[in-house]
Amino acid sequence: MNRRIITIDGPAGAGKTTVSKALAQALGCVYVDTGALYRAVAFEISRQQINWKDMNVLEGFLAGLELDYILDGQKSVMVSSGQDISAYIRTNEISMLASATSAVPQVRKSLLGIQQSIARARDAVFEGRDMGTAVFPDAPYKFFLTADVKVRARRRFEESDTPGISFEKMFQDMVQRDTNDTQRTVSPLKPAPDAILIDATELDVFQVVEKMKSYITIG
Ligand code: C5P
Repeated sequence: MNRRIITIDGPAGAGKTTVSKALAQALGCVYVDTGALYRAVAFEISRQQINWKDMNVLEGFLAGLELDYILDGQKSVMVSSGQDISAYIRTNEISMLASATSAVPQVRKSLLGIQQSIARARDAVFEGRDMGTAVFPDAPYKFFLTADVKVRARRRFEESDTPGISFEKMFQDMVQRDTNDTQRTVSPLKPAPDAILIDATELDVFQVVEKMKSYITIG
């Protein structure tokens, strides 16, 4: 593979999005937020009131989904059946539903093709939970970014789109999502054996990006 695929995995709130965007910009490539795809599935489940625990119902629903992840320079748009749904997928309710539904193997399988097809066309930084382990096991550069759970919950609390949510609720939900994401059977959140681990508890975005760049050979 002569394209550069860089994977950044890690738990919610570790700073993956900000770091991935900054790294992609520094390297002149695109940035792909795979969490948006899981959020899009959760959003449609919620909007269409799908009984996703019934596997027949879920499979029918997944077969009918038409998701497009549109890259526009450094920006991206999450589109479902032609509609831009980017503005609706960041609530706490959708975070929790995405965390629950992403544990279902059929959901993960349905999103594999779209992630790999984005990579076929271009150099990219992919951010998610299983980029280095399951989606791009051959990626030449893999990072696992983490930070203390209290620091992560505080960051998410400060950026939250959910009116009236308390820090305590944010913290409890973060712990719950960590548990869901690390304990699921299929593609659990964990570092790939060849991933470089970075703890961002005491580092700012600039420091994390510089650290990552020091491992990447340009050209
Ligand atoms: O990254 P973000 O917090 O937006 O992801 C929302 C949820 O989607 C995560 O809690 C996780 O359960 C799921 N996800 C996943 N695999 C990915 C990206 C996200 O399971 N590659």
